[in-house]
Amino acid sequence: MSLEGYRGRLLELLRSAGASVGDELVVSTASGDVEGTLMPRYQLSDQLHLVLKLKNGYNVGMALGRISGVRVKGKGREPSFSPPPRPRATAGLPKVLILGTGGTIASRVDYRTGGVKAALSSEELYHLVPELSGIADISTEATMNIYSENMTAEHWSALARRAGDALKEGFDGIVVTHGTDTMHYTSAALSFALDSPPVPVVLVGSQRSSDRPSSDSATNLIGAVTFAARAPVSGVFVVMHAGPGDDELAIHAGVRVRKLHTSRRDAFRSVNGAPAGTMKDGEMRLDQSLPPRRSGAAGLSVIPGFDGRASLLKVYPGFHSSLIGDLVRGGCRGIVLEGTGLGHAPSSSYADIADAAKSGVFVGMSSQCMNGSVRMTVYDTGRDLAKLGVVPLGDMLSEVALVKLMWLLGQGYDSPKVADMMTKNLRGELRERRPL
Ligand code: GLU
Repeated sequence: MSLEGYRGRLLELLRSAGASVGDELVVSTASGDVEGTLMPRYQLSDQLHLVLKLKNGYNVGMALGRISGVRVKGKGREPSFSPPPRPRATAGLPKVLILGTGGTIASRVDYRTGGVKAALSSEELYHLVPELSGIADISTEATMNIYSENMTAEHWSALARRAGDALKEGFDGIVVTHGTDTMHYTSAALSFALDSPPVPVVLVGSQRSSDRPSSDSATNLIGAVTFAARAPVSGVFVVMHAGPGDDELAIHAGVRVRKLHTSRRDAFRSVNGAPAGTMKDGEMRLDQSLPPRRSGAAGLSVIPGFDGRASLLKVYPGFHSSLIGDLVRGGCRGIVLEGTGLGHAPSSSYADIADAAKSGVFVGMSSQCMNGSVRMTVYDTGRDLAKLGVVPLGDMLSEVALVKLMWLLGQGYDSPKVADMMTKNLRGELRERRPL
């Protein structure tokens, strides 16, 4: 048992009382004693409040300055969770590997002690969603257990290697369970690192953890496994809720998707175009131009190297372009500027941009508009930037451009080769402009 989240004088006070999170405490104050269960605190909460869960279920924060004493009335039990047994496999179903990486889909909250998080492995997730055993012959593997904001280029490389091996081992589909915050970066990373996967590689997450009545964990996981096992297509996709209801899931191309809402279950949307498909009651409607599923991994090539020394900078009024020089001096090898409108940056930033480009650092331009394409030929300011060496990145999403840049740098290409490849469509990330 621990005193999770408590620091400073409050931590000392609780320690000297022999208290742990989950214990029944009597906390004395000038206005009387308060009894309740000691709750953990989030790491970023202040150091001055002890939080008790009262018998009526409410939590109260008690200011350190008002506490005159703490006594442990009863020791709590360490919160524990044992998942149901492994569902029985059905012979002859497609083989799907679930690779766990962490995130909300793998977390549970213990409401007795309040907020203690328990991480579920992908194996436990499978036990909790027994429907999966009727859809596919499931194998599970935990590759990491992290929140997706902690992902790095090295994590993408490791995941791509493992997914590549699994494709060669002959799995009929791969599902990667992932935190939603940066799932679209990882879907882009896998899209580049896995050239021509023979079967679907599906990223899935959830916006609400599995202990909540409104959880989307099970629906999304069932949808992702169904898609991975049965879809007649290949490629890297994200599968998540399509709308506020539980009945429809959207299939997004890995390089065309973005998290557009902080909390809604249909947070993921294909940007600048329609999703690659939808799934309702197991029935799939898919874009006819998607590459077909193949048997055997003969055409697959795995290119898992990423070089994290690239940055994405948002341009804004009064943009502090000296950041560019700082990045270059710090060893940055490529920069994506997320420009305004058609791909602009203030003229006060030109000198810094020119210096970076001259020193051999790739500088590309995407747009902070969600829709449309960068066009640096419309205004003279765009033309000026192009003359300084800024490469327009068309309708590529900024995040995808960053990931692609890290991937190209990871192949050891020099700046002209990087510029050439950044302006070529490799995985559907860059579409030709179409006349209206
Ligand atoms: N921030 C965490 C992550 O992206 C939790 C959010 C989520 O999974 O939805 O992993």
